[in-house]
Amino acid sequence: MNTHYDLHSHSLASDGTLSPEALVTRAAAAGVEVLALTDHDDTGGIAEAQGAASAIGIVLVPGVELSVTWGRQTVHIVGLHIDPASSVLQQGLARLREFRNWRAEEMGRRLARSGIEGAYAAASEKARGRIISRTHFAHFLAEQGYAASVRDVFKHFLKPKKPGFVPGEWATLEEAVGWIHAAGGQAVVAHPARYNMTASKRRKLLAEFVELGGEGLEVVSGSHSRGDNFGMAQLARMFGLKASAGSDFHGPENPWVELGRLDPLPEGCDPIWSNWSFSSGCDARAAV
Ligand code: AMP
Ligand code: MN
Ligand code: MN
Ligand code: MN
Repeated sequence: MNTHYDLHSHSLASDGTLSPEALVTRAAAAGVEVLALTDHDDTGGIAEAQGAASAIGIVLVPGVELSVTWGRQTVHIVGLHIDPASSVLQQGLARLREFRNWRAEEMGRRLARSGIEGAYAAASEKARGRIISRTHFAHFLAEQGYAASVRDVFKHFLKPKKPGFVPGEWATLEEAVGWIHAAGGQAVVAHPARYNMTASKRRKLLAEFVELGGEGLEVVSGSHSRGDNFGMAQLARMFGLKASAGSDFHGPENPWVELGRLDPLPEGCDPIWSNWSFSSGCDARAAV
């Protein structure tokens, strides 16, 4: 039988709403056998998730989702099988979090100028000492009735050209791939169909990514349509990239995305896990 993989998910260590343990429990109940925890710019949830996965008997792949600025846009690079103890990686993550903290304060100031008071304090409170994400702001603004849904808050307040938006100054693509490799991991371009860029710009991104030694493309994503999956499978083949698959689950309050609920990889893909070896049932490593 095919192993059931979900290689992109979030916990309370970033902008997800479940603890790492609850996430792993839910993944196992959904039939996931190999789960990657890929919190934004933070690896603080991995130890708890590893413990829960060993207890339940599924495989936890240590991961991270790095914020990158490329071509004046934000793109996300997932690292799989990273060693969270890597000092190169942790120094990089610390820099991203420093920018996040400044950005959150600046978002608060900009929202205050448009008449929305207290957003920074409320978002920090929600983040509970972990990274502060636009998602934390969005939940506060939605609760306060500034828009009908979290999605609408993003649309009206938190996207480029909107009052609470602060342009990213994240890692370069080269840094992100370098940090992931320094931590022994494989680099994967996350949800490639979701970026608001032309097809030729997307191909340029992938060409640079391959040049830098990047390994994978998230061909199947919870935020892709069926058609996107096929288009991205074609791109993966064109660029010689391995194919990954992940739900990008953030929490049960979004019923559109569920752990493990993923389309199969289209025919002809080379799965990113094709050279992974599973030793004890609670540990997985990329064979080198
Ligand atoms: P940040 O990294 O702080 O800029 O926040 C990005 C996160 O916001 C993404 O990882 C998503 O979880 C969330 N997000 C982005 N766009 C939307 C949207 N339109 N609706 C809901 N959540 C979104
Ligand atoms: Mn997120
Ligand atoms: Mn992402
Ligand atoms: Mn994600």
